[in-house]
Amino acid sequence: MDPKNPYRTQDAGGLRKANVGETTRLAGWVHRRRDHGGLVFIDLRDRWGITQITFHPDNAEVFAAAESLRPEWSISVTGEVTARPPGNENSELPTGEIEVQAASLAILNTSETPPFEIERDRPVDETLRLRYRYLDLRREKMRDNILFRHRVVKHMRDFLDAREFVEIETPLLTASTPEGARDYLVPARLYPGQFYALPQSPQQFKQLLMVAGFERYFQIARALRDEDQRGDRQPEHTQLDLEMSYTTQDEVLGLVEELFTGIVEDMTEKTILEKPFPRLTYAEAMDSYGSDKPDIRFGLEIKDVSDVVADSEFKVFSGAVASGGSVRGIAVGGLGDLSRGRIEGEITDVAKTAGARGLAYMKAEEGSLKGPIAKFFSDEEQAALRESLGAEEGDYLFFVADKDPVVFESLGRLRLHFRDALGLADDGVLGLCWVTDFPLFEWNEDEGRVEPMHHMFTMPREEDLALLETEPLKVIGQLYDLVANGTELASGSIRIHRPDIQQRVFDVIGIGAEEAERRFGAMLTAFRYGAPPHGGIAPGIDRLIMVLRDQPNIREVMAFPKTQAARDEMMDAPGPVSEDQLKELHIALRRRPDAPQGTDPAARPSEGNN
Ligand code: ASP
Repeated sequence: MDPKNPYRTQDAGGLRKANVGETTRLAGWVHRRRDHGGLVFIDLRDRWGITQITFHPDNAEVFAAAESLRPEWSISVTGEVTARPPGNENSELPTGEIEVQAASLAILNTSETPPFEIERDRPVDETLRLRYRYLDLRREKMRDNILFRHRVVKHMRDFLDAREFVEIETPLLTASTPEGARDYLVPARLYPGQFYALPQSPQQFKQLLMVAGFERYFQIARALRDEDQRGDRQPEHTQLDLEMSYTTQDEVLGLVEELFTGIVEDMTEKTILEKPFPRLTYAEAMDSYGSDKPDIRFGLEIKDVSDVVADSEFKVFSGAVASGGSVRGIAVGGLGDLSRGRIEGEITDVAKTAGARGLAYMKAEEGSLKGPIAKFFSDEEQAALRESLGAEEGDYLFFVADKDPVVFESLGRLRLHFRDALGLADDGVLGLCWVTDFPLFEWNEDEGRVEPMHHMFTMPREEDLALLETEPLKVIGQLYDLVANGTELASGSIRIHRPDIQQRVFDVIGIGAEEAERRFGAMLTAFRYGAPPHGGIAPGIDRLIMVLRDQPNIREVMAFPKTQAARDEMMDAPGPVSEDQLKELHIALRRRPDAPQGTDPAARPSEGNN
């Protein structure tokens, strides 16, 4: 640090025994004050650490000032580094062998009593934390999350730079790039009645950069999506957006695998379950784990027993198979003896929240199956059920019989329920895997139409192109997701680079040529100029950091997140704007949000000069 800096010549984390005898100057916050044995001790904290400062009464003026110090006051202290007296060392602090004898003290700013303790990691109401985020970020855990995030992003940049990727910024004010969410819109003052859309991702721009010949692009990009605030979502999140020309799925997966392996192994204590990361097709992931975001750290794999029970006397099972559904189950060991109440209450509820009508169960005992429904199955059927599920003596067998999506969802959730209840997964391990071969489209039940499973720019598998018009739901896309411990970390695809194929995909989802031209004209035109084959991916940075730091949600790894209700508590946004601003933007509100119910806005005098 600059020796002439008036506030500090040294950071508060770096002093060691070797510095004893030096004069130093430190600046930071009063972390803690202790008055002890006629002395005042201050733990002075800055970004780098904590150093103990000792004030002696023989330096009367400085001592008096030290006695006035309170938590979070901002101070600068000059003094000599001394060794702590034997027995007073603090082995938990890197600076714990030394202290600084204060010769002078400058109080740079006082502080009101903070709304929560900075120096201790105690649970604090999250709204309060978000309202005073700048204080929350002073806390050690949050500071370390943000610093770690910085290092991960730097690692990404260095890794990609070394492989000749170019970092290019793409616009925030642009036209819509759909990724399955609503757009955030920005009214265009210069074009009354028209709007920019904030990007749901840089998808179109990165593809255009491939047409432009940059070959390898990346960006630490903000993606803005106006989604319903279910679960752990944020209106804006950050992606490592990347794209390559003349590439293959294998090349993209290999690159990301190397990047992630480096981050995990060089920067965390975690171990990777299996390398290279296992690759499962979407169908395999659903079959075995009931989810396209499988947690592969533990077994409890789902097995299809439809064939075994198709002709059984248990009508719930045979009926489900006969009506085109399936019967699948898992065998769970280590549960001991469960009460009927617990199975039919808590455990069945897990399956029911996923839409299952019920949960059937039996227990493997004395070589056969026991339980209320066991009597419906012949000895051979019982043996075949045990065998199919790989059940050991004492295991519980749980079954769901329904339409496939319900069966998958409910057994998938049950797996996770038992993972947590039985502690089956090790948090120190990252079960990273690829899920590939997703269907290109899915059926939107509510709207009664086909829509892209991921986004509309994905290339179908070569061999499925012919199915586009006839059986679109059977078309497999060149799509891939990276998953860790049940969380999706990245999503990408090989893209369509030919205008004719792009239009065929648009047609399937009901975007005719005219609409396509209006909404995606630039892409379609660009593809006519020798667009190279290309593909890419976009790992979510917030999610990755959350998983690597074992955080419960992404807000813990973002400096300034919104609340779950999509509000910025600190800046108090969103908020109303003045009548003049609205006028400038040519916007008339249908009903002023602050107007009493039923008031006609047009009838109210405006705030302007009217
Ligand atoms: N644009 C995609 C997304 O945001 C990622 C990609 O396909 O590269 O999910």
